[in-house]
Amino acid sequence: MSNQPLPAVSFQGVTKRYGVVTAASGVNLDISQGEFFALLGSSGSGKTTLLMLLAGFEKPTEGRVLMSGTSVSDVPPHRRQIGVVFQNYALFPHLTAADNVAYPLKMRRVGRSEREARVNAALGLVNLSDRGSSFPSQLSGGQQQRVALARALVFGPDVLLMDEPLGALDRRLRDQMQLELKRIQGELGITVIYVTHDQSEAMAMANRIGVMSGGRLLQVADPETIYAAPSSHFVARFIGECSILRVAATDGGKGYEIAGARQSLRSPAKDPFDIVVRPENVSIRASVEAASDDAFGVAATVRDITYLGAGWRVALELSDGQSLLASIMRGDDVAGRLAPGLPVVARWAPASVAVLPTEGSS
Ligand code: ADP
Ligand code: MG
Repeated sequence: MSNQPLPAVSFQGVTKRYGVVTAASGVNLDISQGEFFALLGSSGSGKTTLLMLLAGFEKPTEGRVLMSGTSVSDVPPHRRQIGVVFQNYALFPHLTAADNVAYPLKMRRVGRSEREARVNAALGLVNLSDRGSSFPSQLSGGQQQRVALARALVFGPDVLLMDEPLGALDRRLRDQMQLELKRIQGELGITVIYVTHDQSEAMAMANRIGVMSGGRLLQVADPETIYAAPSSHFVARFIGECSILRVAATDGGKGYEIAGARQSLRSPAKDPFDIVVRPENVSIRASVEAASDDAFGVAATVRDITYLGAGWRVALELSDGQSLLASIMRGDDVAGRLAPGLPVVARWAPASVAVLPTEGSS
């Protein structure tokens, strides 16, 4: 026996089909107690399906779902100790905020005085102590979402599921709510599974991210690893800007050659592979100024320049015809000289290179 605590949630070989559509496919995933886990993927990738299977509103076609090591196949939704918050708050319009929050307690036959105490605590947690008597129509979108959150937490669930909960809010309110959700999660130590299609939201909030596509979980890792070491072309492209470059392996995979330049890899890679380079890791110098030493550098031409405020995004064409993005900051030597057609030398450090298995024909 190991003395690892049991995962709060486990998906074991879970597949869900709706007729000919496979909404979730062979999903294996353990989520730890107290973890803030983000399910990230574009629309239709199967995120909501996984939440529905966990909450018990749907049954898996294959596989099973466990909570704290016990299969919940035969446990109805209201017995699973799971709170759920959706994008459309789904508040009862004819009930006050306090009565909305009290609802799950009434369902569970919690007595009046305890109910009042718990409702007050939950409204306090979401900073709405003074709005208990307001009806949903009298509250802003952000406040309604707080009420929905209080309602999901009031009965002390083990796991909180949130399905694109901030999608209907504007940018500023969303940033503020992100911080608040993190605070609340920290205070309660609750396990959160958070569905989003927004990679920056997932990066900002989660301890770990699971990237989904076509019902499959492509990669599960902490945000830094997902960003710096994506496991596939899809994940690399989905998480922020990057360039994926075709290279020729050298030295049996200890290094690579691109457009006549050679660089060693930090660790050997299995041939054939591509490399991923993030724009912020690329530096460029005008060719006339580049030192003619034997350091790694790839000849390129500036094709396009986009002003971003803090700097510029520069699209380059390498001498072998491949495209490379670089982000250039205000203070960079080359900044004042950027112009389409400018011949440059592009560089990046071996430590900033991620290696991907080459895919079919792209
Ligand atoms: P996401 O939440 O990532 O946008 P969903 O889990 O909602 O994705 O959907 C995954 C796939 O399953 C989609 O192709 C969707 O159309 C399909 N799907 C989801 N729910 C149902 C359902 N109740 N009946 C039929 N197809 C469904
Ligand atoms: Mg969805």
